[in-house]
Amino acid sequence: MDKGKIRLYDTYQGMIRPFKPIKDNEVDIYYCGPTVYNYVHLGNMRPAITFDLLSNFLSEVGYDVKLVSNYTDIDDKIIAESIKEGKSEKELSLFYIKAYEDCLNKLKISPLYYHPKASEYIDKMVDFIDDLIKDGKAYKAGNDIYFRVHSVPSYGKLSNQNLEELEAGKRIDVASGKEDPLDFVLWKLTDDQGIKFDTKIGLGRPGWHTECVCMVDDVFSSPLIDIHGGGFDLKFPHHENEIAQSLAHNNTTLANYWMHVGFLMTGGEKMSKSLGNSILAIDVLSRHLGEAVRLFFYQTNYRSPINYSEEILEECDKKINKYLSSIRRASVSLDYNNIKTDDLYDQEIYEELLEALADDLNTANALAVFDKAFKMLNSNSKNLDKLNAILNTIIKMSNVLGFKFNKYSLTDEERKLIDDYNKARSEKDYSKSDLLRAKLLEKNLI
Ligand code: AMP
Ligand code: ZN
Repeated sequence: MDKGKIRLYDTYQGMIRPFKPIKDNEVDIYYCGPTVYNYVHLGNMRPAITFDLLSNFLSEVGYDVKLVSNYTDIDDKIIAESIKEGKSEKELSLFYIKAYEDCLNKLKISPLYYHPKASEYIDKMVDFIDDLIKDGKAYKAGNDIYFRVHSVPSYGKLSNQNLEELEAGKRIDVASGKEDPLDFVLWKLTDDQGIKFDTKIGLGRPGWHTECVCMVDDVFSSPLIDIHGGGFDLKFPHHENEIAQSLAHNNTTLANYWMHVGFLMTGGEKMSKSLGNSILAIDVLSRHLGEAVRLFFYQTNYRSPINYSEEILEECDKKINKYLSSIRRASVSLDYNNIKTDDLYDQEIYEELLEALADDLNTANALAVFDKAFKMLNSNSKNLDKLNAILNTIIKMSNVLGFKFNKYSLTDEERKLIDDYNKARSEKDYSKSDLLRAKLLEKNLI
């Protein structure tokens, strides 16, 4: 596919734009990952699925994609939870990172280029904040070090708000010593019982908004990457604050495209740990196939909200099982006839899938193309060359969509069963062939 056709919705500019990466053949993507203080809910998996799909797609059209997502393993919520559970903060965060990664695996998320942890970037954050202080863009007040929002006149562009609107009705908390209500914490000066670091800017720990700016700069060796993403809730204040720090320190907007994933909703509200309406990803993935969860999200545009529905997830399970049965039947027939060429595929329908995804990841259209390929598969069971080409196309498509379906290979025993069935039929031994046919049906081989 012509890479020039790719268009993505960029929240920063507020429109769909042709996608052009900084380097000719590489795409650098970073999305904000979870704060690891308890099990993630299903909504937290939507950004992971969306950016995995984007990465698969961009790789497939020929880019070398570097996909990075962080773990926020320093946070007041982690401290509170570790006290509650009687574990160290490190023990707690490693436990929930492992639980999150189990979910990524069940969803067949491809391995990331890197998965940095905030705790590994303290020195970098301290230097960054120190530079901002020296430049007059950050200041110490009361118990914290704050970012001076007024040093960045374009503050608010991402979330489409201006400084006056943002400040309207806000009052300065006099006790904090803040100069402006919008100024946000870069470094919390504290000697409480939570994790803290004795540094040149004082004893304490970093605020959330600085970590991603420092990790991007370090992991990609550049203060400007192609795509930065996360859920809609991160647009303001988190991403707005990341952009402000990046403009103040590096004179870049951190990324050329900002992508935001819509909320998973439940009972009319955003699914959220703090609202207490979480449906845990590990529970959903114990009831439903990982592929079915992906299918559930793909039915709606990634930017739109989507309602959690157990019934729709069950429908998705059924649909995935149907896909798997069709693949199995076609594989069996091809394997039995020793047709094993993997490289023949139907270019036309494959291009249709890529073009659907090139249109700002139009997954609903991509699924329609995928269904069309299955219709072709099911209606070409007798034409083995065609069947082979369509099956190969489906496998290729399923890799891009992240379903990662595999062809099925017959065991010797199954091959013999088919041989016996064919023999019984050719000898017109119908009672035997009926018996064998029932066995083959039971094993989902015909
Ligand atoms: P958190 O641990 O709350 O920082 O969230 C980790 C990621 O999940 C962020 O990119 C959030 O924007 C995203 N997220 C949180 N809640 C939802 C939701 N209900 N639907 C979609 N994404 C969400
Ligand atoms: Zn972030």
